Amino acid sequence: MNDTRFLDWPFFEERHRTLARELDAWAKANVAHAHGADVDAECRTLVKALGAGGWLRHAVGGVEYGGAADAIDTRSICLARETLARHSGLADFAFAMQGLGSGAISLAGTPAQKAAWLPRVARGEAIAAFALSEPDAGSDVAALACAARIDGDHAVLDGEKTWISNGGIAGFYVVFVRTGEAPGARGISAFIVEAGTPGLEIAERIEVIAPHPLAKLRFTNCHVPLNQRIGGPGEGFKVAMRTLDTFRTSVAAAALGFARRALDEALARATTRKMFGQHLADFQLTQAKLAQMATTIDSAALLVARAAWQRDRGEIVTREAAMAKMAATEGAQQVIDAALQMWGGLGVTHGHPVESLYREIRALRIYEGATEVQQLIIARELLKDVAART
Ligand SMILES: Cc1cc2nc3c(=O)[nH]c(=O)nc-3n(C[C@H](O)[C@H](O)[C@H](O)COP(=O)(O)OP(=O)(O)OC[C@H]3O[C@@H](n4cnc5c(N)ncnc54)[C@H](O)[C@@H]3O)c2cc1C
Repeated sequence: MNDTRFLDWPFFEERHRTLARELDAWAKANVAHAHGADVDAECRTLVKALGAGGWLRHAVGGVEYGGAADAIDTRSICLARETLARHSGLADFAFAMQGLGSGAISLAGTPAQKAAWLPRVARGEAIAAFALSEPDAGSDVAALACAARIDGDHAVLDGEKTWISNGGIAGFYVVFVRTGEAPGARGISAFIVEAGTPGLEIAERIEVIAPHPLAKLRFTNCHVPLNQRIGGPGEGFKVAMRTLDTFRTSVAAAALGFARRALDEALARATTRKMFGQHLADFQLTQAKLAQMATTIDSAALLVARAAWQRDRGEIVTREAAMAKMAATEGAQQVIDAALQMWGGLGVTHGHPVESLYREIRALRIYEGATEVQQLIIARELLKDVAART
C-alpha cells in the first residue's frame, strides 16, 4: 500500500483502516491489473476468490445472511472498491456487481429471498446482475417499457434490457419491469429472475472499451413466480433508486482508486525517466501536472469520504453523493490522461497499466447517472435549499 494517510481522516474507524490494509495485501497477492483474454472466466474466478477471501460479505446486508454487518456500510464498500480498483478494474467490477446486483434483495427482499440468495452472493457462489436499463430508457429510466402481466401466481415478462453487467454469467437478475399499477415511475415492479428460466435469453453480447461481461437480455413469455417480486406491486422504481443511492458513492470510490493508481504510475515514471540530462520530474511543467493530479485526488477523496460517512450516519446524501460521483469520475479521467501523457509512447501500449486505466475510467462517467444527471441533481438540491429559505 502506498500513501495511506487518508485512512487517518476522522471519517474512518479502525475497522475501515483494517479492511483497507488487509484487502490491499490480498489484492497484491491475488489480482493483477490487466484483463485476461476471457473476461467471463476471469470474472467467475474473481467472484469466487473474493467470496473465499470473505470480502463479498461487505457487499450484502444482514449478518444472518452472510453479510459483514446488518446494513451495507458505505465506507466499507467505498474502501473495498477504491482498493480493488487500484489493482484491477475487473476485480472492482466483480465486487461492485455482487453488491449492486443483490442490493435490492439486501434492502427490500423478504427473509426467504434474502436467505435464498444473499449467503451465496457473499460466498461468491452466485453471480448477481441488476437489469434496469433498456435501449430507450437509460438516463430517463422511468420510461422503461419491458413489461410484466400477472397470470395467477406468476408474472409474465416480455421485452428487452440492455447494458446488463454480468449478462450471460449471472446466476440471477434483478429485473425492473412495467406492471402498470400507475403511470410512470409508480407502475414498475422488481423481480428476481434466475438464469435458465424459460423465456430469458442472452440476446446479444456487448463489447466495450474496458471488457467485462455485458449483454442485452430478451424476455419472451418468461414466467416468474410472484414470490420472487422484491417489494410491493408498483414499488420497483423506489427499490431501484434506493439500490442506486446505496452504491452511487462507491462508483466515485472506484474512480478514486483508478486515479490513485495513475498517480503512482506517473510518479514512478517521472522520477526514473531521464531526458535532457535530468529526470522528467525535475521539470516544472511536470511538477505542475503532479500537483494538479494530487489535488484533484484529495478533493475527490474528501467528497467520497464525506458522502459515505454521512450516509452511514443515516443522513440523506443526494447532493453529496452526486458531487462525489461527478468530481471523482471527471477528476480521475484528467488524472489518468496526465499520467498517460507522462508515459509517452509506452502509455498507449496495449496492456500497460495507464492504457488500461484510460479505458477503464470512461464508462464511470456514464453509468449509474451520467455527469450531466449529477449536475442536475446538485443544482436541484441547491435550488430547493434556496426555495426553503425564502
Ligand atoms: C459499461 C456499462 C455497464 C452498465 N451496466 C449496467 C447494468 O449492470 N445495469 C443497468 O441497468 N444498466 C447498466 N448500464 C447502463 C447505464 O446505466 C446507461 O448507459 C446510462 O444510464 C445512460 O443511459 P444511455 O446509455 O441510454 O444514455 P442516454 O440516456 O441516451 O444519455 C446519453 C448522454 O446524454 C447526456 N444526458 C443525459 N441526461 C441528460 C440531461 N438531462 N441533460 C443533458 N444531457 C443529458 C449524458 O451525457 C449521457 O451520457 C451500463 C452502461 C455501461 C456503459
